[in-house]
Amino acid sequence: MKITDIFTTADRTFSFEFFPPKDEISAVDFGINVGQLLKLDPSFVSVTYGAGGSNQERTFTLVDYLQNKIGLNTMAHYTCVGSSRDKIAADMNYLSQIGIENLMLLRGDPPKGSDSFKAPENGFNFASELISFVSRQFSFSIGAAANPEKHPEAPTMQDYLKNLKFKFDAGANFLITQLFFDNQAYFRFAESARQAGITCRIIPGIIPITGYKQIKRFVDMTSTSFPEELLDKMETHQDDADKVYQIGIDHAIRQCVDLLEKGAPGIHFYTLNKSRAAVEVFESLPRTIRSS
Ligand SMILES: Cc1cc2nc3c(=O)[nH]c(=O)nc-3n(C[C@H](O)[C@H](O)[C@H](O)COP(=O)(O)OP(=O)(O)OC[C@H]3O[C@@H](n4cnc5c(N)ncnc54)[C@H](O)[C@@H]3O)c2cc1C
Repeated sequence: MKITDIFTTADRTFSFEFFPPKDEISAVDFGINVGQLLKLDPSFVSVTYGAGGSNQERTFTLVDYLQNKIGLNTMAHYTCVGSSRDKIAADMNYLSQIGIENLMLLRGDPPKGSDSFKAPENGFNFASELISFVSRQFSFSIGAAANPEKHPEAPTMQDYLKNLKFKFDAGANFLITQLFFDNQAYFRFAESARQAGITCRIIPGIIPITGYKQIKRFVDMTSTSFPEELLDKMETHQDDADKVYQIGIDHAIRQCVDLLEKGAPGIHFYTLNKSRAAVEVFESLPRTIRSS
């Protein structure tokens, strides 16, 4: 089912993001985790596309499996990295043939060691160009990325919003945000996006922090700000893994409740292929706000 069709009857969507498992052992873990998340009856699940355009086969195999064998409404991520227009068209035809109706269309990151993105030969420089190319020829429901604290390469938030509007105008039907830990960043951003004429749903992306080392990695990777108070708490208990886990879960629950109570159109959970934290957070949300 197209995510845009879900929007016609549901005010909120709850979704979970996975990455393709790297080997047989992690594939078994992945199966167990998906089994747990299935019980939550998600609006959709999504599968990432390897950074640098790697592991494309795994993404395609996994979306096929989740959509057609497990029966989950599945969204395939796809980036501009390493693909010419011809390859993109062929890939879109393939995804369409296997029954995928939802795509997350992204630019992707520059290869390791390089700080600027170079379009592949006969390919695209920006996600908006990919979205325009796909939306004109295919009838997928299309999601795009949004960074509530601005994309690191954009000089200012104004520049970023202008570029984000290109994605909306090119055919993005909804946005999913980069992870963030301070809800004010989301609300400020959603308001600015509306003022810039971006009227589609902006679904907040949430990750429950489950380990102390994780924080630094995420903050470095995504230039996301991390509330001092939360950082202090985690630092104080950094040697007590259970306590750190609980602090992370409690923060994610508070974040989700506040977002939903103030009108956010659902939650997209970054699961890192682990179900426990996402299940705990989701099940802790009051029933009234977790129903769509
Ligand atoms: C929900 C979500 C899922 C993701 N999934 C994946 C994944 O599966 N695989 C993966 O590799 N990465 C993924 N990413 C990361 C993403 O690829 C990176 O954040 C990447 O650096 C930017 O992608 P984008 O689609 O936002 O790019 P764009 O929207 O193209 O923006 C990239 C930069 O270019 C600028 N820009 C855009 N248009 C113009 C223009 N016309 N002129 C000048 N500047 C412009 C923007 O301001 C921004 O700074 C995901 C991110 C999110 C939030």
